[in-house]
Amino acid sequence: MKEKGRFGQFGGFYVPEVLIPALEEIEQAFYKFYKDPRFVAELNELYKNYAGRPTPLYHAKRLSEHCGFSVYLKREDLLHGGAHKVNNCLGQGLLAQYMGKTRLIAETGAGQHGLATAMIGALFGMETKIFMGSIDVERQNVNVHKMKLCGAEVIPVKGGTCTLKDAINDALRYWTAHVQDTFYLFGTAGGPHPYPTVVKHFQSPIGTEARRQCLEQIGRLPDMVIACVGGGSNAIGIFSGFIDDKSVKLIGVEGAGRGVNTTHHCATLNVGTVGVLHGARTYLLQDADGQIHETECISAGLDYPGVGPEHAFLKESGRAEYVCADDKQVLDAFELVCKKEGILPALESSHAIAWLVGQKGKLPPETIAVVNLSGRGDKDVGIVEKHRPVK
Ligand SMILES: *Cc1c(COP(=O)(O)O)cnc(C)c1O
Repeated sequence: MKEKGRFGQFGGFYVPEVLIPALEEIEQAFYKFYKDPRFVAELNELYKNYAGRPTPLYHAKRLSEHCGFSVYLKREDLLHGGAHKVNNCLGQGLLAQYMGKTRLIAETGAGQHGLATAMIGALFGMETKIFMGSIDVERQNVNVHKMKLCGAEVIPVKGGTCTLKDAINDALRYWTAHVQDTFYLFGTAGGPHPYPTVVKHFQSPIGTEARRQCLEQIGRLPDMVIACVGGGSNAIGIFSGFIDDKSVKLIGVEGAGRGVNTTHHCATLNVGTVGVLHGARTYLLQDADGQIHETECISAGLDYPGVGPEHAFLKESGRAEYVCADDKQVLDAFELVCKKEGILPALESSHAIAWLVGQKGKLPPETIAVVNLSGRGDKDVGIVEKHRPVK
């Protein structure tokens, strides 16, 4: 187990002793079922008829004209629930079923992963508990309401800063006491082994489809693939399809918020340092004493002070490059995609577009760029309106 969970010096499983058997149980079940024909057939049926896969690869012609090179959007925003999160929840939820677990637990910050887990809990008829910082419960009351409609119990976490990292700690604590019947459905490609590997696998259809669609629709591979990075699940999902194609540049975009020199950003790979958080060795936003920083950027879905360990490794090995976009560039990109394409991108995904739009005039016109449009922006209209009232 120790070997498999490592990405260079990153990853691993730094957890209390009592959780090791639970993580090993998930690891064993994952390797037992992920290629099992019955499991694969059942998951593919759910991807197709419940979630809406395959998602289209769309040539955004007016956006391309604006940029001066070709931009294709991988439309994860069209999935059930409005984002890529359903891919991971279906995969882990089905695994929990195959393992005979009866209860799902999950952490959530902005509420998107909590909602996706609540949906899948309803789908599989499983008891579902969502741990959420009490401040986030207040801030994200619409998602809290939706989770309850799907039958989930939302547990407000008071402790620390009452936000995502505290919710993860409480979910892990609850799991410790209920490992027998409970499956912890982790929301991103981070945390202790085997989660980074499991989540990557269940998000990998994004990359597999995108690669095939490029060959079918364009007749060649793209020059670059761009995705936003919070914990890193949508990015590793699309990167996984192209990682062996050395000619394809992989670019992850983090949130520079109000600037990486301020305290309001979530640019972990750009300015963080190496440490251990939530069971994995990776890059973190921390001070010299190892105290974790609060993160803040315009999209709550990117607010996480750590990042999946495989991204830390891809950065160190140079296979992928990590850049950032600030709040203003993100709002400009959001408005641009609305105006040029009639598509409202999630503010998270708008980070990836913002960086790409910034390459206008810097790339040859024959360049082909694929952006993972990780989610739809309907949830963000209120935030955009607050910053940029529509005249
Ligand atoms: C949650 C979310 C993200 C960030 O999570 P990753 O694990 O980094 O993918 C990005 N985009 C959308 C639309 C999200 O909902």
